[in-house]
Amino acid sequence: MSSNKPVAVITGAARGIGKGCALELATAGYNLLINDRPDADSVAKLEMVQAECEKAGVEVACFNADVADLTLHSEMLDVAQKRWGRLDCLVNNAGISVKSRGDLLDMKPDSFDENLSVNTRAPFFLSQEFSRRLLAQKEPSDSHRSIIFISSINAVMLALNRGEYTMAKTAVSVAARLFALRLIKEGIGVYEVRPGLIKTDMTIPATAYYDELIAKGLVPQGRWGYPEDIASTVRAMAEGKLVYTCGVPVAVDGGLSMPHF
Ligand code: NAP
Repeated sequence: MSSNKPVAVITGAARGIGKGCALELATAGYNLLINDRPDADSVAKLEMVQAECEKAGVEVACFNADVADLTLHSEMLDVAQKRWGRLDCLVNNAGISVKSRGDLLDMKPDSFDENLSVNTRAPFFLSQEFSRRLLAQKEPSDSHRSIIFISSINAVMLALNRGEYTMAKTAVSVAARLFALRLIKEGIGVYEVRPGLIKTDMTIPATAYYDELIAKGLVPQGRWGYPEDIASTVRAMAEGKLVYTCGVPVAVDGGLSMPHF
């Protein structure tokens, strides 16, 4: 017997955008499998997110693992499928910034490899495994089935001091469109969200810098974005509100990436 609630899997949900998506999808009535890294701090934070989401009356399971370890993807999805008998939505959110911002000419191979591994390779192969399971699911789904990639405006706006991140997010943007094209005939929606400047722990190192640029008009909407801004778009995608689209990226950036003068 499968759950009568749709099931969403969200990576990197202990804080920031992933936490925002978990709270929003819990409010929307999804049972959740939330993931973050296995260190003690992330385990504790993820449990707090679990407790907050459960207040919405849904069931939530935690799975602490590094998504870059592809061998754990099956185990993670098994936890959700065994408990609820179904999968409906995957939010590929877990991501990292660079080891240190700096000149492209100084970028080190280990930072390049780590960025591609977490930001591109992990969501690609998790989506591959998730897709196979969606296609093998016997019962017809009573909810929209979706895979959502959280990329970045850096998929289209170059950041010279974060070259490896820019490359990794550009590649994952292409992955989103590839999956979208592959799965559209199966009735599975694949989407890409490109966050702009979102106030989370990830942007702490550059907060003062961006505060100044936003004050000078860098973001047409005139403010930082917040995890809730991304989460409301993710919810619309998960609920299938973007009808008759295929792999179209949605920039949630207050107009930052819109060419203008
Ligand atoms: P964040 O505050 O740093 O949170 C990221 C979360 O993902 C953290 O809980 C982190 O765990 C987790 N994570 C990182 N690597 C992981 C891994 N290998 N396995 C499992 N969990 C992992 O970042 P955020 O701002 O919310 O960013 C979320 C996503 O949005 C990322 O993909 C990021 O690239 C993208 N994005 C953010 C912005 C922005 O302005 N904030 C803009 C564009 C795109 P730990 O606590 O253990 O590190």
